[in-house]
Amino acid sequence: MSVLRVGVLGAGVVGVTTATELQVEFPTASITIIADKFNKDTTSEVAAGIFRPSPSFEGPTPEITSQWIRDSYNYYDELRRSEQAPRAGVSQVSGYIFSSVDPSLVQNHLLEKTVPLYRRTTEEELKLCPGNWKYGSYFTTLLTECTKFLPWSLERFERAGGKIAKKTVTKFQDLEHDFDIVINCTGLGAKYLCSDNKLVPIRGQIIKVHAPWIKTFFYAEHDTYIIPRSDGVTLGGCRHYESYDISLSRHDSAAIKERCFKLIPSLQKAQVLKECVGLRPHRNVVRVEAEVLGKLKVVHNYGHGGYGVTSAPGTAKHVIKHVREFHLSADKHSKL
Ligand SMILES: Cc1cc2nc3c(=O)[nH]c(=O)nc-3n(C[C@H](O)[C@H](O)[C@H](O)COP(=O)(O)OP(=O)(O)OC[C@H]3O[C@@H](n4cnc5c(N)ncnc54)[C@H](O)[C@@H]3O)c2cc1C
Repeated sequence: MSVLRVGVLGAGVVGVTTATELQVEFPTASITIIADKFNKDTTSEVAAGIFRPSPSFEGPTPEITSQWIRDSYNYYDELRRSEQAPRAGVSQVSGYIFSSVDPSLVQNHLLEKTVPLYRRTTEEELKLCPGNWKYGSYFTTLLTECTKFLPWSLERFERAGGKIAKKTVTKFQDLEHDFDIVINCTGLGAKYLCSDNKLVPIRGQIIKVHAPWIKTFFYAEHDTYIIPRSDGVTLGGCRHYESYDISLSRHDSAAIKERCFKLIPSLQKAQVLKECVGLRPHRNVVRVEAEVLGKLKVVHNYGHGGYGVTSAPGTAKHVIKHVREFHLSADKHSKL
C-alpha cells in the first residue's frame, strides 16, 4: 500500500497538536505542516494559555464537547507529569474566580468534572481582593504557554520525521496533487478558505507585566483576569465581537489596568513588559467535520474561539477518527 500523505494546514496550537497526534496514530504516514505564520506570529502565542473552557464552549453535542475537554486535559496533564514539562511550557496553577452578581458565573460544569479541585470559596477568601464579592470558586487547572509549547512541539514533530512548509494557501485544490488528506487548522483563515460566515473574530488585548509575587490566578467580572506565567503575569482582557483591528488600543490598556489594579492593587508597581492583540477565531459550534472536495479529502478543525489552547488536543483526537475512516475507505477501494 502507498504511503499516506497528510497535509496539516495551520501551525497554531490546533495545527501543531493535530500534526503531532497524527504522527502517533499513523507512524508510517508522511505528514507536512503548511502555514504562513509560525510561533510568535500566530494568535496562539497571544493566549494566556489557561485550561478553562467557558461553560458556553460548544462542540456538536454535549457529549462530544465533554470528550474534547477530557481528552485535552489528559493530554496536557500527561505532559505536565513528564520530564519534558518545563520545555513544553506546561504547568499546574490554582486560583480564584469572583462575582458580585450571580453564583452561576463562578460555576463551570465542564471544568468541575475535569480538574482535580473545584470548590466554593470561604467567606474569608471572598475578602482576599477589594470589591464586594459575594460568590467565588477556587480551582486547580493547567497552564500551557504557547511561547514554549509551539516551538517545542514543532521541534518534536520534525524530529519524528514531520515536514514543515511555509506558504499561504488560497484554495484547497492547490494541495490535491501533494496530499491524500488535508486537515484544515487555519483558525480565522478558514473564514476566507471556506467562505465560512459563521466564523468571526473576537478581538482580545492583554498586558504582560513583571510581578513575580503573583502566584495564583484571579478572574472577575467584565472579562478581568490576572494569570501568572513563567514569562510574566498576563493582565486582561476584552472581547470585541467582529472586530478585525489588530492595533493596540490605549483605551483597552487603560481599562484593563484599572480593573486589574482594583482587584490586586500591588500590580500598580509592576513593570509593563509588553502588550499584545489577538483575534480569537470564534464559531458556534467549533467545526470538526470531514468533507470531500473534488479529489481531496479534507477534515476541518477550526473555530475554537477563546478556548483553542484548552480544546486543541481533544479536537485533534476527533480529527484522527475522521482520518482513520477516510484511510479505511481508501484501503477498501484499493482492494476492490
Ligand atoms: C487575548 C487572548 C487570550 C487568550 N487566552 C486563552 C486562554 O487562556 N486559553 C485558551 O484556551 N485560549 C485562549 N485564547 C484563544 C486561543 O488563542 C485561540 O483559540 C487559538 O490560538 C486558536 O488556535 P488556532 O491554531 O486555531 O489559530 P492560530 O493560532 O491563529 O493559527 C492559525 C494558523 O493557520 C495558518 N493559516 C491561516 N490561514 C492560512 C492560509 N490561507 N494559508 C496558510 N496558512 C494559514 C496561520 O498562519 C497559523 O499558522 C486567547 C486568545 C486571545 C486573543
